[in-house]
Amino acid sequence: MGECVFFLARAARMAVSRLPNRKRPKPTMLKNLCVFCGSRVGANPLYAEQTRRLGATLARRGIGLVYGTGHIGLMGVLADAVLEQGGEAIGVIPQALVDRELAHQGLTQLHVVTSMHERKALMAARADAFLALPGGYGTADETFEMLTWAQLKLHAKPVGVLNLAGFFDPLLAWIDRCIAEDFLKPRYRQFLLVENDVERMLDVLTKAASVGERSL
Ligand code: AMP
Repeated sequence: MGECVFFLARAARMAVSRLPNRKRPKPTMLKNLCVFCGSRVGANPLYAEQTRRLGATLARRGIGLVYGTGHIGLMGVLADAVLEQGGEAIGVIPQALVDRELAHQGLTQLHVVTSMHERKALMAARADAFLALPGGYGTADETFEMLTWAQLKLHAKPVGVLNLAGFFDPLLAWIDRCIAEDFLKPRYRQFLLVENDVERMLDVLTKAASVGERSL
């Protein structure tokens, strides 16, 4: 019996190894999380409070932060919290923003690139999942780029929003409207993972990143 189970397991492994690359599940882990968030702290003190909690939790779980390098707004709050708790913060920033002296000076790694496009591509490549916190145009732009790349099957990394104080409710309503008006396939709704608690959000992203290639 034991021999039979061993044989079946080996046959299954061999069958998987013969699959063409694109059919093979790609197991990933949540080693680095890319966070998009405001260059301002926002009106509700809950945003900075929960951003600090996220930073401390990332450090405690051994998950590296990839982010836009700013030392201002929620970005600065997040990076400071990660570094204070002994975690890793990797910044990617275009030279133009460094020149405006907006770069955090104490990061674990700093990548200076030539353009915003190059920055987004490098942030995406370095991360295993993406998370948006409250923010403005920049946060929305980065989050939607990752969602559209997922829709185009350019990556299969999970994208989440931390819906603090219902901040993203209007965005979720807009997505529902896109589906209702046939601009978005209903199955694409699941690309966006929504939670309002830091620990639960990280659990969900970790699980989604570990599943490997999701059914896109
Ligand atoms: P916003 O949501 O418009 O405040 O923009 C924040 C997002 O855009 C962040 O996720 C950053 O990647 C990027 N960003 C905007 N302003 C800056 C800045 N001054 N320094 C670094 N990144 C920035």
